[in-house]
Amino acid sequence: MSLVSEIAEYYQHHIEIGELAPEDVPGFREIMAEWEVGRTTSQAVRAVLVRAGLTTPQIVHGQPLGPISELDWAFRFLPKVQPRNSDGCLLWDSGTRGQGYGQFELNGRSVQAHRVAWEYRHGPVPEGYELDHVFARGCRSKLCVNHEHLEAVTRAENMIRRHVAARWMAGIQVRTELDSD
Ligand SMILES: [Zn+2]
Repeated sequence: MSLVSEIAEYYQHHIEIGELAPEDVPGFREIMAEWEVGRTTSQAVRAVLVRAGLTTPQIVHGQPLGPISELDWAFRFLPKVQPRNSDGCLLWDSGTRGQGYGQFELNGRSVQAHRVAWEYRHGPVPEGYELDHVFARGCRSKLCVNHEHLEAVTRAENMIRRHVAARWMAGIQVRTELDSD
């Protein structure tokens, strides 16, 4: 039996006898640490468990996505993107998850589509930074994967921008209601 199936069976067994809830199946980093295996093995274990319906794909924030190959980009990513709309947004036209961001399977993990788009151009998001869909550049959708509409900012900066954008949107809303009277 391969190491991958051996580890996968360990978790499968513990789920089946009720000792481990599917949502408590460790992430790939924990599996790496617990079994002293490499990332490839660990991600393969998770892939087996996800395929067997025993756990759900892991959403990873703040960790490097790993390599984004030309093939993944050209043949798996780009076909899921709509043509540029009037805001200049390139909207994700495939699965979403969590807070409404596009979702893409990369290197055995489920990751945010807009992050893939940004990292393909710029490399990993620096630690302590997150990606903002820049309202001031005309971006109006969390589904947008146009790297020119994205910027790596600190959480504090992102919060301020969201607040400003929300107020701006509220202003537009109020004006439209007044106009319709
Ligand atoms: Zn956009």
